Amino acid sequence: MSQATTSATSAASDAATEPASQTRELTCIRCPKGCQITVTIEHGEVTDVTGNTCPRGEEYARKEVTNPTRVVTSVVPVDGSPACAMASVKTAGDVPKGKVLDVIDALRPVRLTSPVRIGDVVLANVCDTGVDVVATKNC
Ligand code: SF4
Repeated sequence: MSQATTSATSAASDAATEPASQTRELTCIRCPKGCQITVTIEHGEVTDVTGNTCPRGEEYARKEVTNPTRVVTSVVPVDGSPACAMASVKTAGDVPKGKVLDVIDALRPVRLTSPVRIGDVVLANVCDTGVDVVATKNC
């Protein structure tokens, strides 16, 4: 086997587990401008971020490719309130992106009873994320 073939095989083997270099195209969601951001990742490390207009975009991009998280918002029914039948809720902080649908599912059986105040904990430690779901509306 020639040296060139050996190197190619080695590179192919590495590529199957972790590409030496790759790029990810992202749309920044930190503000309505929606900058198109390109992230270069080499050996699992972010080495370059381009396309962002401000530092928040770089922060978002680096986090999105290493540890993507989201704040989840939803609504839940409220009993006994003449003013509102549904209360808006959200996670008090970011949860792993992979758990967003689990959080939505966990909220399906939740019903609140009036009075509900902004900041009331609706569901503590949702899906073992260490994050509470809290009310964002008075009902
Ligand atoms: S990079 Fe900055 S300006 Fe561009 S979308 Fe993100 S937050 Fe908005």
